[in-house]
Amino acid sequence: MSAAPPLEYDAIVLGAGAAGLFCGARMGQAGQRVVVLDHAAKPAEKVRISGGGRCNFTNLETAANRFISQNPHFAKSALARYTPWDFTSLMAAHGLTWHEKTLGQLFCDQKSGAIIQMLLDELEKGQGELRLETKIEAVTHAAGRFRVETSGATFSTPKLVVATGGLSIPKMGATGLAYDIARQFGHDIVPTRAALVPFVFTGADHEDFASISGVACDVRAAAGGAAFEEAMLFTHRGLSGPAILQVSSYWQPGEAVALTLLPDTDIAGQLKETKQDRPMQTLATALEGLFAKRLAELILRREGLAPAARLADLSHATLEGLAAALTSWQVRPAGTEGYRTAEVTAGGVDTAGLSSRTMESRHVPGLHFIGECVDVTGWLGGYNFQWAWASAAAAAERVS
Ligand SMILES: Cc1cc2nc3c(=O)[nH]c(=O)nc-3n(C[C@H](O)[C@H](O)[C@H](O)COP(=O)(O)OP(=O)(O)OC[C@H]3O[C@@H](n4cnc5c(N)ncnc54)[C@H](O)[C@@H]3O)c2cc1C
Repeated sequence: MSAAPPLEYDAIVLGAGAAGLFCGARMGQAGQRVVVLDHAAKPAEKVRISGGGRCNFTNLETAANRFISQNPHFAKSALARYTPWDFTSLMAAHGLTWHEKTLGQLFCDQKSGAIIQMLLDELEKGQGELRLETKIEAVTHAAGRFRVETSGATFSTPKLVVATGGLSIPKMGATGLAYDIARQFGHDIVPTRAALVPFVFTGADHEDFASISGVACDVRAAAGGAAFEEAMLFTHRGLSGPAILQVSSYWQPGEAVALTLLPDTDIAGQLKETKQDRPMQTLATALEGLFAKRLAELILRREGLAPAARLADLSHATLEGLAAALTSWQVRPAGTEGYRTAEVTAGGVDTAGLSSRTMESRHVPGLHFIGECVDVTGWLGGYNFQWAWASAAAAAERVS
């Protein structure tokens, strides 16, 4: 008995995450017969957990310079053609509302599940099919058609869109399938690494940071030629918080991270002023005016200064030396928490092999890569979802 003939579609999308669902919806609404395949039991699980359950779905300051890629120009075309305002218009049409939290970051007022429902409704509007719990077993290409063998059926299409994401959070089903397919069809992979990820430390730094786990402080964190001013959080394993997550995407193993504590404060000036106004105040009390108590204690211990010393007894040079140590604090992470907790994977399918207008492969007509699997990695703050929407829209435009 011969095997059943493959199910034929105008387009097949691998991965029902942010990029895959959106691409499937747009292709379906443009009249394509489309199916979205995913091995997970539920679609778009990363949308669900994003932004603390409220999905930071875009950023008003979206521009190509907010993304890391070997080709910093690659993302420009797609980002210009599908903007944050296009996505908010879609949300408005679905009755969803949003607010700006900080730094252009837009969050959904409803739960992130409402965005997933919107994506599913959009897919249904275009009569796109969704097949979950479908394991992708093999992808082959012959005579202008892709054949996708799965644990369910076999599918055939002239247009294949790979949207299976990166390696971050393997517990949620992340796999390297996109990279495997890319390599199979002759694409290069820019080496991948965990990004937007906390740093871990060993030795004295580890003990010190763990001892004040939960304390936060505004910093300027610099590494790999980039610098970010935001909050930093001490954790039981090392350092986290927005400034650290941002700089982790640029950091290279072995490199030191330069920290400026309270970058908007003239620490030396403030200490000298306090010395003049309240000379009998202790150094500990003066520092507690600037930092959380536990951090102030740690700073003094690390700098070898007596907490009970009176400001009157300390020279201006000592106060300036302390301030200098806090504005040029070098820490050397032992590593990062890795893909286990990384928000994204940097690196991925080399953009040199893709059209920036359509995300289509330059090697194999009809093959497309979109979303996080591509070597385009956004900053923290909604940029990664905006790339998912924009690259999906670009690929959908081409295949329709
Ligand atoms: C904790 C957390 C919070 C985040 N918060 C934000 C935020 O607030 N704002 C923001 O912009 N970004 C955020 N991100 C990043 C954002 O979630 C991703 O950049 C985005 O989801 C990428 O979309 P994607 O569609 O390319 O990939 P994904 O959303 O990862 O989707 C990939 C899909 O492919 C499926 N898949 C994978 N391998 C296979 C396989 N072998 N076979 C079949 N299917 C497969 C997966 O099940 C998944 O459904 C966050 C990430 C994490 C981990």
